[in-house]
Amino acid sequence: DHKATIIDGKAIAQTIRNEIAEEVRHLSQKYGKVPGLAVVIVGTRKDSQSYVSMKRKACAEVGIKSVDIDLPENVSQDDLIAKVHELNATADVHGILVQLPLPNHINEEKVLSEISIEKDVDGFHPLNIGKLAMKGREPLFLPCTPKGCLELLSRSGISIKGKKAVVVGRSNIVGLPVSLLLLKADATVTVVHSCTPDPESFIREADIIIAAAGQAMMIKGSWIKPGAAVIDVGTNAIDDPSRKSGYRLVGDVDFQEACKVAGWVTPVPGGVGPMTVAMLLKNTLDGAKHAIAQ
Ligand code: NDP
Repeated sequence: DHKATIIDGKAIAQTIRNEIAEEVRHLSQKYGKVPGLAVVIVGTRKDSQSYVSMKRKACAEVGIKSVDIDLPENVSQDDLIAKVHELNATADVHGILVQLPLPNHINEEKVLSEISIEKDVDGFHPLNIGKLAMKGREPLFLPCTPKGCLELLSRSGISIKGKKAVVVGRSNIVGLPVSLLLLKADATVTVVHSCTPDPESFIREADIIIAAAGQAMMIKGSWIKPGAAVIDVGTNAIDDPSRKSGYRLVGDVDFQEACKVAGWVTPVPGGVGPMTVAMLLKNTLDGAKHAIAQ
């Protein structure tokens, strides 16, 4: 019976966090500087609060200083932007993260575009995405989840050059940037989305599948080419009465089926999720190194 190699994102992320901690120690010994990440949250959404506290804890664990900015739900867009400007000008803040989504009265796009590109550790600034799309240009920061997907491939010894890659989804934060990254890494890239008739026919051809549609278990085992590498970004809550919480998380890929055909597959949870946080720390470290080199 075939059994895919399960890519342990949690373990790989821990290795990366150890590497970051080592570099942070080195920076502080050599230059007396500690990388700083401002984590801005607006309001009290439960999911956002748990992501933010996870990110702040992760900073502490590797020795990055987290600057905690907690703003009330009713903060005005101008006040939020003023805060971003203040952080742009704060020397010991090397990265600025504004937790999304923002309340409806605030224009997210406007706020994100006010973050200095030198501190755009989420990599969502249009200039960073634009550079990612252009040949011969290098963005200062890559968006964390897409960067985490490529890191999982490279640390699992999976080469990208010349491979057929299919990305499922085209959002600004995952699908689009991951497709641009794969293209930069010399894959032949197909992007399928909600208007693609018969996504299966494209996915079947793929050596590398990046699933980021947010559709629970849409990708069946029979859609996967034998030996393909499957990176499952999807994180979907489905009812599970056998759990105390009443739900469990599943990916966009039918994991059990994928294990029988794929060469490699990431689990959900424990695959891409932990890598996203590790890449945020890495971007902050890189931002600090960049600032020190100036
Ligand atoms: P969005 O909802 O913004 O985007 C989903 C994309 O998938 C859209 O481009 C949509 O197409 C496409 N799509 C939807 N249904 C289908 C379908 N049936 N077939 C093909 N394509 C489809 O989601 P995000 O990109 O923000 O997130 C995607 C998933 O990844 C979610 O489950 C999210 O929870 C998870 N996620 C996980 C992270 C992690 O760290 N592990 C980080 C970020 C997200 P169209 O453009 O036409 O609407």
